[in-house]
Amino acid sequence: MDFSTSARHRDIATHMGALGRDLQDPALAGRDREGRFCPERWAILASHRVHALNVPAGLGGEGYGALDLVHALEALAEHCEDTGLLFALAAHLCACVHPVARFGDDAQRERWLSAVVQQGWIGAHAITEAQAGSDINAMQCTAIREGDGYRLQGEKCYITNAPVCDFIVVHARTGNGGGFLDYSAFVLDRHSPGVHISAKPHEKVGLRTTAMGDIRFDGTWVSAAQRLGAEGAGGPIFLASMEWERSCLFAIYLGSMRRQLRRTWQRARTREQFGKPLLAQQALAHRIADMHVRLESARLACLHAAWKLDHGEPAQDAAAIAKLLVSEAAVKNGLDAVHIHGAAGVLEGDAERQLRNALPSTLFSGGSEVLKDQLLRQLGREFQPHAGRA
Ligand SMILES: Cc1cc2nc3c(=O)[nH]c(=O)nc-3n(C[C@H](O)[C@H](O)[C@H](O)COP(=O)(O)OP(=O)(O)OC[C@H]3O[C@@H](n4cnc5c(N)ncnc54)[C@H](O)[C@@H]3O)c2cc1C
Repeated sequence: MDFSTSARHRDIATHMGALGRDLQDPALAGRDREGRFCPERWAILASHRVHALNVPAGLGGEGYGALDLVHALEALAEHCEDTGLLFALAAHLCACVHPVARFGDDAQRERWLSAVVQQGWIGAHAITEAQAGSDINAMQCTAIREGDGYRLQGEKCYITNAPVCDFIVVHARTGNGGGFLDYSAFVLDRHSPGVHISAKPHEKVGLRTTAMGDIRFDGTWVSAAQRLGAEGAGGPIFLASMEWERSCLFAIYLGSMRRQLRRTWQRARTREQFGKPLLAQQALAHRIADMHVRLESARLACLHAAWKLDHGEPAQDAAAIAKLLVSEAAVKNGLDAVHIHGAAGVLEGDAERQLRNALPSTLFSGGSEVLKDQLLRQLGREFQPHAGRA
């Protein structure tokens, strides 16, 4: 067991931290208020090849593994306050680039990942539907066999990057059973005939500089060559994407929590009330210690899950634990930071934005309850392995 940070990961963090500082945007507050994604800032990320971090090196990407990505996203997010931009980036890397790189055949990888590398393409990952949120198996969107391809019919909602994406990884039902092995994953160009994307991004409480929208497929044709993996492999592909998302995407919250902790500590050290700094009030100082403990334990869980992914070990439960710890720490630390900043914490600024950005994190990539149910099922298998046998 080695808990040291490798020289490679230190270098990644230094490089990404510097880029994060360069991405500071004086207009962030205004864009956040307007709920506006910034294509120019995406172009800066692309010019540094950050949008292709986990594209295999043979295709022009950086060939990052999961641990590399955790260190990169954490360092970017510590210094770049635009969490919405980084959320757009991380969703693209984990839920779009990753499944194509891992499950795509040579032709698919060449077609879609070269476009990412060379043209700065942005991906969207579409699985959620109005009646299929936590219960993905309730999916209604269909891909009906027709000749050497499929016709997509149905609607996906709450899709990150949808209004600004270039390609879409979509899951649709190809079987009739309504189960985990009855849907398949496809990749398609957003300009394919019959793809309709809501024109106006949704307005939301946090992550406002990410563009989120709905996508309707109206008889959209996809060839069999656009299907990722075998017919019916959508479930396992979705789970693999979620393992990456739950382990790596959430590193953006680790970075922003580090900045939040530093600023909150500074505020408590310099703000005096009743003749002494707030930090000298043990009740308040302990809140800061609690923020620190939550952040460090969430970080270890993230690194552990990413390590498992890189070593080809089953990571489903480790990823669920990481996601639970990071998202719940982000919300609790966001509340503590605002509280310790006093009235200044509720004025427009980093503290209040971080709290708002944290709120959706307990919902996407598996809600907290859904992940706890998953962990309990695993405990059941471990503690009562013979249950159900006659
Ligand atoms: C910021 C953001 C970005 C997103 N991006 C994408 C995207 O890119 N692509 C995509 O496909 N989807 C995306 N989603 C949608 C996301 O996947 C869903 O919000 C999520 O699956 C939950 O579904 P729901 O919102 O319909 O909530 P519901 O399923 O209606 O759940 C509501 C609440 O009930 C809880 N709950 C559900 N079932 C149970 C249960 N059995 N026991 C106890 N509690 C339960 C949930 O945890 C949640 O708190 C995004 C959502 C957000 C907020």
